[in-house]
Amino acid sequence: MWFDIRIYHYGNPRVKFPQIIGHEIAGEVVEVGRKVKNFKVGDRVAIGADVPCGTCKFCRNGLGNNCPLNYAIGYQFPGGFAEYIPLNELTVKYGPVHKIPNNLSFNEASLAEPLACCLNGYELSFLKPGDTVVIIGAGPIGCMLIELAKNLGASKIIVSQRSKERLNIARKFFADVYISSSEENLLKRVMEETKGEGANVVMVACSSTSAQEEALKIVSHRGRVNYFGGLPPGSLKINIDSNLIHYKECFVLGSHGSVPRQHKIALDFLAKGIIKGKEFISECFSLDKIKEAFRVAEEHRGLKVIINP
Ligand SMILES: [Zn+2]
Repeated sequence: MWFDIRIYHYGNPRVKFPQIIGHEIAGEVVEVGRKVKNFKVGDRVAIGADVPCGTCKFCRNGLGNNCPLNYAIGYQFPGGFAEYIPLNELTVKYGPVHKIPNNLSFNEASLAEPLACCLNGYELSFLKPGDTVVIIGAGPIGCMLIELAKNLGASKIIVSQRSKERLNIARKFFADVYISSSEENLLKRVMEETKGEGANVVMVACSSTSAQEEALKIVSHRGRVNYFGGLPPGSLKINIDSNLIHYKECFVLGSHGSVPRQHKIALDFLAKGIIKGKEFISECFSLDKIKEAFRVAEEHRGLKVIINP
């Protein structure tokens, strides 16, 4: 919902007014086109965001989130803050639309979208069993990154967050170390926790240039820094000491969105209880209370806020 709120307030070059936003979706199929074979009326489906065009080189190679057209539900295509959502041919053919296993609720299934982004983030960061992971930013995504890192075999998970309130919400996910970076020196503590080696993977899950700069200091030799959170347009440019990269032989990368394959895996993780969706849902609102829902999300009063149209 965070991106939806940003679009609502500031717009987005990929969203032309008037448009229905909302890109973390689950629902029931109520009508299908004549030629649609893979879905039928009554199917329960979860829908991700990035829709491959199906024909460019990236999409043909399973990298639809890098498609130059960059189609997405709730951006160029109508989104989920509505009672009904029409899915166009591209979405039905190539998009992240997957049937929801019976035991999984619509609310939980809608989390497959952000979870898929987290999966993409760790795939690109080459997270390996035994790795130490630092997650900077303990919002809903940061919390998902904690849960996922545990399940992917990380041996130590360190979470850093400026606001103490947010950090306290994240404590229920039982990372190994919680650092309030407004009160404690992140670099010093990470070095203490890693015997001076630094972290194997640093996920910068917030929109902060200083966090992006600091990540290069706390990553280990041959470690991976992932700029997972984008910066708003007009942000200051970061200052990198490129010698840190040179001498550590570390990797600096980014990740954004996900591909349909990852959306399917995320849905399976939720259905199997590997990731417990309910833990991430703090409040549900009806569609006519959407402004209130936005306010709750903006004030960081919980984790995921759900709209039930
Ligand atoms: Zn494409």
